[in-house]
Amino acid sequence: MLRFAPILLALLYGLLLYRFSVWRTKRELDARSTELVDPTLKALTDDLARVVDVPRIKVHLYEIEAVNGLAAPDGRIFITRGFYNKYRAGEVTAVELASVIAHELGHVALGHARRRMIDFSGQNALRTALAMILSRFLPGIGPIIANSAMSLLMARLSRSDEYEADAYASALLLKAGIGTAPQKSLFEKLDGMTGAGGAAMPAWLMSHPKTAERIKAIEANEAKWGG
Ligand SMILES: [Zn+2]
Repeated sequence: MLRFAPILLALLYGLLLYRFSVWRTKRELDARSTELVDPTLKALTDDLARVVDVPRIKVHLYEIEAVNGLAAPDGRIFITRGFYNKYRAGEVTAVELASVIAHELGHVALGHARRRMIDFSGQNALRTALAMILSRFLPGIGPIIANSAMSLLMARLSRSDEYEADAYASALLLKAGIGTAPQKSLFEKLDGMTGAGGAAMPAWLMSHPKTAERIKAIEANEAKWGG
């Protein structure tokens, strides 16, 4: 039994670290966000709300410069200040921003948001625990194996999550009468922004699969649905 004590300790450590990062993420989001109040956007999210039969879809504005949208484990949806600024500057349209909200709603509705918490902040905890366990059996290369295994798993998980959230968003946008055009045009726009003058790639794209593949997947769904 004592042989397994270090493994149990490593697992416990991983769990504690995970709980801590959930708590820290929630606190960070609470401290740095307010409700996004924008009449044009609200008209669009009201259209989305009607389709999913909820009174309204509350969107939060997260005060960071990165261009990103996210779904918190508690189901809240956030648009970053950086993304909102692009919309205010006319670089991104209201329907394009609504397509991001629809995508994040997909992550919440499909149960990804909770799991993605592991992606974002609990990943290191799991990595550490796994590395500790593996080094017991494979000294030296244990941590390397743990690292690659985790990266592979996370990439796979988040990749399929993205396609599922895109499909959810497409269905929602079609039913709301908005259509999928803004989904596709936004991908192209963000993709274009990355090349310009060595500008930083928007975080939202960085954590997502290739733009062209996503657009192809959206079009395949439309063809399947007869849209
Ligand atoms: Zn996503």
